[in-house]
Amino acid sequence: MSQAIKHAVVTRGIGNAFRRMNSIIGRYGLTEGKMKSKLHRYCTILKRNNCTATFSITAVTLKRHCRLIRSIQGKGIEFAIHGNVHRDISALNRQGQEKHLNEAMNRFNACNINFYGFRGPYLRYNRDTENILSRHGLYNSTSTILWNVVPKIDIERNNESYEKLVNLYKPLNSGKCLSVPTIKPTIKDNNSGGLVSIPVSLPDDELLIDRLNIIDSDNIYRIWQGILNKTYERGELFVLQLHPERIELCAGALEQILRESASKNPPVATFKLKEIADWWRDRHRFEIRIEGSHINIDASRNATIILRNVKTDVTLREWFGAWERSDAHRLAFNNRTFPAIGVSPGVSEDFIKFLRGEGFFIDETANREKYGMYFEEDMDAVNALKAIESSTAPLARIWRWPHGARSAFCISGDIDSITIWDYILRIFGR
Ligand SMILES: [Zn+2]
Repeated sequence: MSQAIKHAVVTRGIGNAFRRMNSIIGRYGLTEGKMKSKLHRYCTILKRNNCTATFSITAVTLKRHCRLIRSIQGKGIEFAIHGNVHRDISALNRQGQEKHLNEAMNRFNACNINFYGFRGPYLRYNRDTENILSRHGLYNSTSTILWNVVPKIDIERNNESYEKLVNLYKPLNSGKCLSVPTIKPTIKDNNSGGLVSIPVSLPDDELLIDRLNIIDSDNIYRIWQGILNKTYERGELFVLQLHPERIELCAGALEQILRESASKNPPVATFKLKEIADWWRDRHRFEIRIEGSHINIDASRNATIILRNVKTDVTLREWFGAWERSDAHRLAFNNRTFPAIGVSPGVSEDFIKFLRGEGFFIDETANREKYGMYFEEDMDAVNALKAIESSTAPLARIWRWPHGARSAFCISGDIDSITIWDYILRIFGR
């Protein structure tokens, strides 16, 4: 049985799988026309809101529609690899994955489509995928994080089909994990500085529309707004997944969420996935040091330097909550305790690495009097940051996002098929 059929039957049951196939065939046309107008509508909404997006496309589909995709690339859209054919890449062994991705890259090159990253079909990948991507300097935007933003009643009504798909993705729980990119050192790095992994926020349009039957644009908007507000409050990343095939049902919601994100102050940074990966690699090299009575920051000019309750001569600007923003990268402070975090020699390397990654200066010391913020032992990421936020201790930090942005937002969408023929070939694994 082909993977597409197996996926449909396993996550929906046979009856629903057939109904779904009917509705999908209605989304595509016999020629490119229908999808072309959907892609143009998507791009028009993005342009009107000064935004752009990353679409990932299956390489065999790209090969059949090079000209159309090149024209969309010409509108400033970034493309990523969504498999060579539409299959669960983690089901292949390492050599199989290598071959699969090489073929995909060759097809992208043959069509003159630039690519910087990968999103796995069915949002699936494994350690081998990561090693191969890292060797080619590509990012991975396949991991997922699930937000608790759908009204309970909607989930209860369609629980089985929703849960089956969520279980397939194995998302991180946003109550326990941060929605931020990560850099993982991998086996064969090729000087790429490690693999940048960028989580996709769930629920996406497929879960909402096909699984939960939420088709009202206002309701879709309110669910996305829930994720936008949570990521803004926490200063994290919202990678929205909206497949171009469903743009008609979601056009209003997309327009509203883009307007909402543009209205916030401090701003929400909007990125393509490639820009997030580049920024995260840059930021990984930034450093903050406390030297004597000075805070020294080694970072690019667009880094956001924030301070809380730090007495300094430098002029600071209001930013978010108790935090203020500094344009200076070297400043003197005059507080009784250091604007940094002390940790007991007993805490783990991983915990120190996590805090450093969050942009703080960390001192491993038994002298806790020196620091207003001090950790005796390891804590999970969410609770450690809660403890930092709820204290009033003076602190300096290199923030996660550039140009004073509070949080980050990225629009993405996967393209599996352009025509009904692509869809039918996809069913047979081609
Ligand atoms: Zn797909």
